[in-house]
Amino acid sequence: MDFIKDEAVVLRKSPAGDFDLSITVYLRKYGKENIYIPKGQLLKSPFLPATEPFTWFKGVFLKKREKFFIKEIDKSRSLGLGISKDRSRFETAYFITELFNRYVIFPDERMFILLKKSVYYLTQKVDTKIFRLNFTAKLIYLSGIFPEIDVCVRCGSKITGRTYGIFSTPEGGTVCRKCSKSRSYLEYQDIKNLRELKVVNFKNLGRLKVKNPDKLHSFLLEYLMKNY
Ligand SMILES: [Zn+2]
Repeated sequence: MDFIKDEAVVLRKSPAGDFDLSITVYLRKYGKENIYIPKGQLLKSPFLPATEPFTWFKGVFLKKREKFFIKEIDKSRSLGLGISKDRSRFETAYFITELFNRYVIFPDERMFILLKKSVYYLTQKVDTKIFRLNFTAKLIYLSGIFPEIDVCVRCGSKITGRTYGIFSTPEGGTVCRKCSKSRSYLEYQDIKNLRELKVVNFKNLGRLKVKNPDKLHSFLLEYLMKNY
């Protein structure tokens, strides 16, 4: 039996039988875990405040035969309350936790911080299209598969507005005009936006101007699917 202190963000909640509960969390140190909460569906459960999706909490966990249980909760923030006031923010939070649940498997503190910041900032007024785009771009970046967008993947020459030719998904990056004569799905402005999304922090997200947020987001989701 091991006692573990850690922080968690709740990704999913599912009832188990009539009284019990199972939640999927991402822990700062231990990564993704399913936590079983006996009698978790009952109002008197001391862990009730920490079971809703998008909640952040800090506490002591018990690891028994490779299974995690909650021993005590020291602090919690029910971020879902603030998020669900706005439909578009709620959908964004749902999208974020689902994408995270699907693509983040191993423990990675940087991924935890991305998730925690995302749910925190979603309680505020945000442009949800840019917010989603930022999340997906950062997830790709932290997964170590961010596309090459500074130089041509074929000849290595610098990519600028003048030299940009196409973006090649199979080659994972930009190709210069000399190396490809095809027409590009992504414009140079999209490439510039991708460069900004790689480094912009949450505080400055409101100042980011993205020309085609929907197009860029479907591009990134497809890129993630193909390269993961
Ligand atoms: Zn080239």
